[in-house]
Amino acid sequence: MSDCLFCKIVNDEIPARKVFENEHVLAFHDIAPQANVHILIIPKKHLATMNDLTAEDAHLMGEIHLAAKQLAEETGISESGYRLINNCGEDGGQVVFHIHYHLMGGEKLGRLNG
Ligand code: 5GP
Repeated sequence: MSDCLFCKIVNDEIPARKVFENEHVLAFHDIAPQANVHILIIPKKHLATMNDLTAEDAHLMGEIHLAAKQLAEETGISESGYRLINNCGEDGGQVVFHIHYHLMGGEKLGRLNG
């Protein structure tokens, strides 16, 4: 999609610190990290939110989880633990409307529900 920020990163139209790429998935450092490790993992295919997923996209979710596992190992946070988060829609806190997962760790993260 021409006006999508993350599609522009996929297409190398704007720079990003990429850390993983295969045919279906791209991962890069978040520009404003909220944890010592904060990587965004996205499908290369433009899907605005989780609500746009269909059965034909099921493999992308597996690819994203496998990339997260590999990146957790590579950044040394596998054993200590980490969080993989998708914010969906306005109430979910989504700001960029291209599906992405936040891989966060490298420190003790606060509890989600107090
Ligand atoms: P959301 O709130 O949509 O779940 O998360 C969007 C994330 O994208 C935020 O954590 C934000 O810091 C990150 N972000 C926004 N613009 C850019 C950018 O141009 N480059 C990178 N690498 N991250 C971005």
